[in-house]
Amino acid sequence: MKDLMENEDGDKNIFIVRCGEIALKGMNKSYFERMLVEHIRKALVKFEGAEARRREGLVFVRADKRFAAATVAGEISKVFGVASVSPAIEINSDLEAIGEAAAAYMLERAGKNGVKTFKIKAKRADKSFPVQSPDIARIIGAKVLGACDALKVDVHHPDCLLFVDLRKDKSYIYEEKIPGFGGLPTGSNGRGLVLLSGGIDSPVAAFMMAKRGMMIEAVHFHSYPYTSKRAREKTEELARIISAYCGRFRLHFVNLLPIQAEIAAHCPEEEMTVLTRRFMMKIGEKIAGCAGCGMLITGENLGQVASQTAEALIVTDAAVETPVMRPLIAFDKVDIISKAKEIGTYETSILPYEDCCTVFLPKHPVTKPKLAKILASEGKLDAEQLTAQAAQSAETVEIFPERTPPSTHTFE
Ligand code: ATP
Ligand code: MG
Repeated sequence: MKDLMENEDGDKNIFIVRCGEIALKGMNKSYFERMLVEHIRKALVKFEGAEARRREGLVFVRADKRFAAATVAGEISKVFGVASVSPAIEINSDLEAIGEAAAAYMLERAGKNGVKTFKIKAKRADKSFPVQSPDIARIIGAKVLGACDALKVDVHHPDCLLFVDLRKDKSYIYEEKIPGFGGLPTGSNGRGLVLLSGGIDSPVAAFMMAKRGMMIEAVHFHSYPYTSKRAREKTEELARIISAYCGRFRLHFVNLLPIQAEIAAHCPEEEMTVLTRRFMMKIGEKIAGCAGCGMLITGENLGQVASQTAEALIVTDAAVETPVMRPLIAFDKVDIISKAKEIGTYETSILPYEDCCTVFLPKHPVTKPKLAKILASEGKLDAEQLTAQAAQSAETVEIFPERTPPSTHTFE
């Protein structure tokens, strides 16, 4: 559609953005809409002069034609809260003018893309307009047929389905509806700290919570020098991919090696994984507290591995008071993988760098741990002090979308 569009505002491409779930909000609708427009504006910064305004429950974007419509639409579609986006032609709300624009558009489609059949689907947002939707479609359709002998109407399987959206002053013609991710604008639903491993699951979990409007921060545990710098860079890259959707955020790195060494020295080998998991939660809780995050988020998934049996999850959960969100708990792995591919984290996640959990992997991890027994083992360690030290030693980097180098500073 892009290069066929000729708007009255000749230098600009126009986009209709639909807000999906925000439309269902009652009293707070305008709060969510304002937030969404803010995020769309941020996503448009790279397209100089582009503007976004909300009107009649939609957001209208104008961007200079030197930027490819598909690229601009692609950026808009990534903003959480956007249900779909359509590159559109804007015309005065006059049937004659709309008919001419539709005919010109279909002529080009027939010429350039070999389109032979079409259907007009009309919608009248302005109910005071004297002609009803089916009649609008018929009038516009007749105009198109009159302008191009080669075109025929096919109401069941048209080559081109052309939408006419008739509004008060201006009306719109569009063909494509590029789907967005839906969800709610980032920042509309609290803050959470993601436990971000270099695996497939946790980046997807982060994405899913951010999609529901949650601002995120992340913590990654490593066992340097047993885990490499490349493993750390992989996690930063995953965070950068996620930040393309939810904006910049902080990523904390914590070396778990001193704690793993303590567990290895004082606790039964088969409890290593579940005890490590409990420490991850405790350290996460400390960092979350300092960062104003009211929730922890993990990529845990029922039954995936020994540390994620129902019993193990209960023992892990009991390590903290902070609520733990596990958005992937009931997903099958194939579904998590397809989501990871969709959001672009998969290829990075499968890079074969070591994880801190594999450094001290027990031969036979306990699959049905009992809380009392685990607490007894943990009691042999100074858990509070180890947790506080680990949280204090965290190193923090700021993650930006794209490839801006992260700035390093220490976490307070
Ligand atoms: P992922 O679950 O992200 O694919 P994984 O499968 O290697 O990674 P699991 O053993 O399934 O990790 O761990 C379950 C969850 O625990 C992860 O989803 C993540 O939230 C958290 N976690 C595991 N390892 C780490 C780590 N090194 N740093 C931060 N969080 C971690
Ligand atoms: Mg996992």
